[in-house]
Amino acid sequence: MIGCDCEVCTSPDKKDDRLRSSILVESAATTIIVDTGPDFRYQMLRYQVKKLDAVLFTHPHKDHIAGLDDIKAFNYFSKKPMNIYANSLTEEALRRDFYYAFTDTRYPGIPELNLNTITLEPFIIGDIPVIPILVWHLKMPVLGFRFGKFTYITDANRIDDAEKEKIRGSEVLVLNALRKQKHISHFTLGEAIELVEELKVPAAYFTHISHQLGRHAAIEAELPKGIHLAYDGQTIKLK
Ligand SMILES: [Zn+2]
Ligand SMILES: [Zn+2]
Repeated sequence: MIGCDCEVCTSPDKKDDRLRSSILVESAATTIIVDTGPDFRYQMLRYQVKKLDAVLFTHPHKDHIAGLDDIKAFNYFSKKPMNIYANSLTEEALRRDFYYAFTDTRYPGIPELNLNTITLEPFIIGDIPVIPILVWHLKMPVLGFRFGKFTYITDANRIDDAEKEKIRGSEVLVLNALRKQKHISHFTLGEAIELVEELKVPAAYFTHISHQLGRHAAIEAELPKGIHLAYDGQTIKLK
């Protein structure tokens, strides 16, 4: 956090050096990014991402969409518009915040976007099947996504029973866990652990972590078996 000198913000451990939440999902043929937050450009540079086929959006909060303009680097190399997928709520924010990419009077160097409006219907991007999962971020509907045996859920503090069924059977669940203290729109560490145990997912990784949670090494040591704190640059391979 800007201006903060707490033990996490000053930690020498690279696992405490967290950029905004996002994941890259890769198969043999297809590469997808979920959310383009304000750190998107730096994340692409840091992890040397050279190929991207699509972007999925979870919800319209700025920390998940603000970096979209930098998609233009991928347009430049692929010479194609980027396929982006968003529900109607997020689409409205994208069209407002990045209006210049959606007008008829276009100037050179703006992002080229091919916007696909999604609902809770499953769809396929390249060779990756995607199942949207509705979760609640206080009163805002947010999309989680299941890709085969891998499920990603950020920015939620409540999930309806029917949507929980879509998560069951996952081998890996990435879930938000903001901090230990109660929060109005994010699961706490305790609530996230409870949900993993309820859904019996064998491996879980927590993300969207606040500096208020504490240092990675200390919290990691407290977690039950199979549950971990995710860290920037972490790679998870699925069979
Ligand atoms: Zn949010
Ligand atoms: Zn967020």
